[in-house]
Amino acid sequence: MKIRDMLREERTISFEFFPPRAADGIPGVLDTVGELAAYCPSFISVTYGAGGSTRDFTERITVQAKQSGGVEVMAHLTCVGQTVDELDGVLGRLESAGIENVIALRGDPPRGEEQFTVTEGGFRHASDLVRHIRANYGFGIAAACYPEGHTEAESLERDLEYARLKVDNGADFLITQLFYDNNDYFAFADRAAAAGIGVPVVPGVLPVLSAPQIRRFTALCGSKIPAKLDAELERLAGDDEAVRELGVEYAARQVEELWAAGVPGVHFYVLNRSYSVSKILDYLALPGHTLG
Ligand SMILES: Cc1cc2nc3c(=O)[nH]c(=O)nc-3n(C[C@H](O)[C@H](O)[C@H](O)COP(=O)(O)OP(=O)(O)OC[C@H]3O[C@@H](n4cnc5c(N)ncnc54)[C@H](O)[C@@H]3O)c2cc1C
Repeated sequence: MKIRDMLREERTISFEFFPPRAADGIPGVLDTVGELAAYCPSFISVTYGAGGSTRDFTERITVQAKQSGGVEVMAHLTCVGQTVDELDGVLGRLESAGIENVIALRGDPPRGEEQFTVTEGGFRHASDLVRHIRANYGFGIAAACYPEGHTEAESLERDLEYARLKVDNGADFLITQLFYDNNDYFAFADRAAAAGIGVPVVPGVLPVLSAPQIRRFTALCGSKIPAKLDAELERLAGDDEAVRELGVEYAARQVEELWAAGVPGVHFYVLNRSYSVSKILDYLALPGHTLG
């Protein structure tokens, strides 16, 4: 089923996974997908790496999860290191495997590279990939957006214009980068609506799992850690279990407020761990997403 059709009928809950480094890690990821399937996610997705064999694992996990029949899926696809012909190869395989939804991204540069470099014969921006998919395939399409602005954006206004371009080119809905201050999401949703973006903007939520990890992630993606959360992370430094519980509590309160405000859905960055998201969903007890 296309996620755009789901979003007309329900408020979605979705889980994002990443591919393992080696093929023997695939069953472990699929096990976690299976565990979290008990919460009846609207869909799951698997990120697309900057190159190499993990891209193959992404495809395999995406297709296996879809063909297991237990859950709807969305494939991630990026412009990094691929010509249009190569992208068509991936899209053709996904289509033949029955995948109905894709999130079209520019992608992050490969490890060790500072900047995104356009591949000769490839695309420069996610909006180009969105347009190409819309013109040539029948997939439902998502794209990324940034409540606090993308790290390379000239300004918040320009970044929003480019988000609008992705929608104009065919994106059915947007999923946000992670954020820890809901006011950033609410302000972005208002600015998006004022800029004529009429599609659902689904907030992306990452429960903190460890202090060094979240400091690294936020430094990379340009999201801020609010002072109060930062102070708590400092206070609990070294106690990994306490940090994880803080992450559960913080994300549960974040999602509770977002849900009460009427967001179209919530996309959880699961990081292949079921513990935190299970606890959050147990606490929230959202209709249709509780354990039977
Ligand atoms: C929900 C979600 C899922 C993600 N999944 C993955 C994944 O699987 N794999 C991965 O590698 N990364 C993933 N990312 C990260 C993403 O690839 C990076 O944030 C990347 O740096 C930008 O991708 P984009 O699709 O937003 O690019 P774009 O929309 O192309 O934007 C990139 C930058 O260019 C600017 N820009 C956009 N269009 C134009 C234009 N026409 N002219 C001039 N400037 C423009 C924007 O303001 C922005 O600064 C994900 C991000 C999110 C939010």
